Amino acid sequence: MTEDKFIKYISTRGDADELLFKDVIFEGLASDGGLYLPEYWPKINQTIIDSFASMSYQEIAFHVFKPYIDDSISDDKIREIIEESYKDFTNKNITPVNKISKNEYLLELFYGPTYAFKDIAMQFIGRLMGYYLEIDKKNINILGATSGDTGSAAIYGFENIPSSNVFILHPYNLISSTQRKFMTTINSDNVVNIAVKGNFDDCQRIIKEIFSDDDYKKSNNLGAINSINWARIMCQITYYFYSASRIENSENIVYSVPTGNFGDILAGYISKRMGLKFKKLNIATNENNILDIALKSGEHTIKSVVSTSSPSIDIQVSSNFERLIYDSCKDSSYVKKIMNNLKKEGTFSLTNECQTYISRYFTSDSASEDEVKEIILEYYSKYNITLDPHTAVGVACGRKQSSSEDILVTLSTAHPAKFKETVSEIISDDSFVTEKVRMLEKQEERMIIADNDVNEIKNIINETVS
Ligand SMILES: *Cc1c(COP(=O)(O)O)cnc(C)c1O
Repeated sequence: MTEDKFIKYISTRGDADELLFKDVIFEGLASDGGLYLPEYWPKINQTIIDSFASMSYQEIAFHVFKPYIDDSISDDKIREIIEESYKDFTNKNITPVNKISKNEYLLELFYGPTYAFKDIAMQFIGRLMGYYLEIDKKNINILGATSGDTGSAAIYGFENIPSSNVFILHPYNLISSTQRKFMTTINSDNVVNIAVKGNFDDCQRIIKEIFSDDDYKKSNNLGAINSINWARIMCQITYYFYSASRIENSENIVYSVPTGNFGDILAGYISKRMGLKFKKLNIATNENNILDIALKSGEHTIKSVVSTSSPSIDIQVSSNFERLIYDSCKDSSYVKKIMNNLKKEGTFSLTNECQTYISRYFTSDSASEDEVKEIILEYYSKYNITLDPHTAVGVACGRKQSSSEDILVTLSTAHPAKFKETVSEIISDDSFVTEKVRMLEKQEERMIIADNDVNEIKNIINETVS
């Protein structure tokens, strides 16, 4: 068997080694500072896509993952890990599609253990990495930054993986108390929560710096689980295929995706490149609308982060946007140039070709705090559904970017209980808060508060690892 049978992964910046699946899933940043992506998009044939209508979520996941994986793992093992990953989800359809009105749907992604869509990938990745570590008799130190939801999903995803430590950085005081408690109430020595005195972009920058230090990365067996990790994106492709298979006239779907780091919506773009037919992807942002402005003007310029009621998308630098830019032009020297510009001057401009390409697939909009409130109130009074603030951003932006012929499918990225203070104040009702979340309140928390400084974080890692 030759390697060419399997998809290779290349860096957006063109100067890193090509990798196969088994290695790429452990990578954060490529050694040239870029992000890995497959050298081409595998197509799923239309007959198979049509047959998804009668397949379970888990079966669809297998068909979606298979072309990305090499022979380092058997088909049976992949199926077994998929089954295990989703067995504790509290909805048997895993990501059910909820019809709200004639052309408005929610794709509900919050039935995993930590109440946000991040569980869908992290449950799978924890087990997949666990499998490889066991056969190779290795251990790993998982390092990640979270804007609120990735951290808890990672902690739960690796909970039962022996020989792993998990280090999670979150922005101190800038995530909801329930988001924090999902992470800090885990009483386990292999979980280290670090609250960084800075914002999410600072946490992400620290992680990128640590991962770009190749010696440090190797000598500490570091592994990444941020949304720049390829396996996370891959897992998220499944629910686009799943939801389209459950909705009639799916070619008219506009997916509206509350967007922060651009991972979730990138998975939607990839589903389209793999052969799924739908109309558009709408980038839904809150007042941190850098991507909305970039799409409309071509100018991508960092401003300071504003704190909103949807903290998981209070982000200026959307890491995965780099993958889309690369895919739109396949020019790694251009990517390198604009990313250097971003780092040095906080800004870059998209070429006309790149902008035109992106607008074939994407629309964008942004929602104000008032719009978020209105949507939450409307859903509560009209449909008896309690939305989380991120989903409300998705609906508000989706309505502005779809017409009456379209089917608006908003990705419902979190359970409202995770943002219970914000939501209960808006609707004056807290009956949506689950017993599980009420229990978290009573538990003891463990975390380290650290300065916004790479060396301090490295010291914390060194103390645990040694
Ligand atoms: C992570 C997250 C998002 C943003 O997803 P990206 O892949 O970072 O764009 C949106 N909503 C919630 C609730 C999240 O946790």
